[in-house]
Amino acid sequence: MKKKVIALIAHDNKKQALVDWAVKNREKLSGFYLCGTGHTAKLVKEATGLEVEAYLSGPLGGDQQIGAKVAEGKIDIIVFFWDPLQMQPHDPDVKALLRIAVVYNIPIATNVATADCVIGRNCL
Ligand code: PGA
Repeated sequence: MKKKVIALIAHDNKKQALVDWAVKNREKLSGFYLCGTGHTAKLVKEATGLEVEAYLSGPLGGDQQIGAKVAEGKIDIIVFFWDPLQMQPHDPDVKALLRIAVVYNIPIATNVATADCVIGRNCL
């Protein structure tokens, strides 16, 4: 059976939280095909030893690349730890990705609690 695809994205102030989450869920994540925006993908790969396909960095178009894959039906789940306390230069891209995930009814976890639920851990 084809592996389901998870896209991983974290803004700078949230990267450690995403790396910690990925390490904590390494075994479960090993059953998925992983991809992510440039720096996030690199950090998760280094921390977990899992393969993570890297798209461009978010501010350089990575969010848009992932959004396009969602529209093509090629991404099943998104874990996107965006930063609620700091403006991002690519804010329109962030909004576009959040929007397209809703349009295509893709689970999109934007904090650790939701990501735990999506991966099947500690969900209420
Ligand atoms: P990055 O991009 O993983 O390349 O840092 C994330 C983002 O800022 O959207």
